[in-house]
Amino acid sequence: MNDAVPILMYHAIAHRPAPATHGLSVAPEAFAEQMELLGERGFTPVTTAGLGRAWRHGEPLPPRPVLITFDDGYEGVHRHALPVLDKLGFASTLFVSTGWLRGAQEESAAPDTMLDWGQVRELAAAGTEIGGHSHTHPQLDQLDDIRLRFEVLRCGEVIAEELGAAPVSFAYPFGYSSRRVRQAVRAAGFAQSLAVGNALARRRQGPYALERVTVRRSTGADEFVRLVEGRGVARNFARDRALTKGYAVVRRTRRAIRLLRT
Ligand SMILES: [Zn+2]
Repeated sequence: MNDAVPILMYHAIAHRPAPATHGLSVAPEAFAEQMELLGERGFTPVTTAGLGRAWRHGEPLPPRPVLITFDDGYEGVHRHALPVLDKLGFASTLFVSTGWLRGAQEESAAPDTMLDWGQVRELAAAGTEIGGHSHTHPQLDQLDDIRLRFEVLRCGEVIAEELGAAPVSFAYPFGYSSRRVRQAVRAAGFAQSLAVGNALARRRQGPYALERVTVRRSTGADEFVRLVEGRGVARNFARDRALTKGYAVVRRTRRAIRLLRT
């Protein structure tokens, strides 16, 4: 049984992304090359729901399983990624922040051009699983219980209204979760949820804390192959961990300042 599965985390796929999304974006040509590499190396993309189901029931996965995931809901996923996925017959998962997508439910300012629901439906029809990524993309672990419940439930409701089926997979905005956040996601009916760990996903991480690896604009072909094969992941991402730690300190400090003020 496959106990270590690479879950690739993509954001925007774009020629000229907005400055806010640039670092985590991938150029369309690089994305196409990365998908070809997966095919050449015998990887079989599965959806997040498929992985969750297999690990829950101890069922076999296809040879060399890999997950291709997109966060937030950028328009380039439809424009640039869908034709490539379609051509190769690759499954994927799109995690949408429902308040960011273009349309009636649009509620907060998105960082770049987002998908509309017609495009989301076309992705779903082509075999992309649509999962939840909150409603307005906050740091869920920083919210009070009422707001946390709203962010998770509203996201699931909007997807169910627009697509006619409730989503079963979730991805935490910024990768942040806590026991309380994981419980809220589970209570809202999601069967599995993805974090960001820059490590391969393993069954023992549990269905609500599966780790992903980040693909970014600076990820070259060689580094990409090392990532999906689980080689040198720790070394490549020592830099990220330092950043995450630094950010955690900033968050703690902000919180302390807030506490002092109230
Ligand atoms: Zn996000």
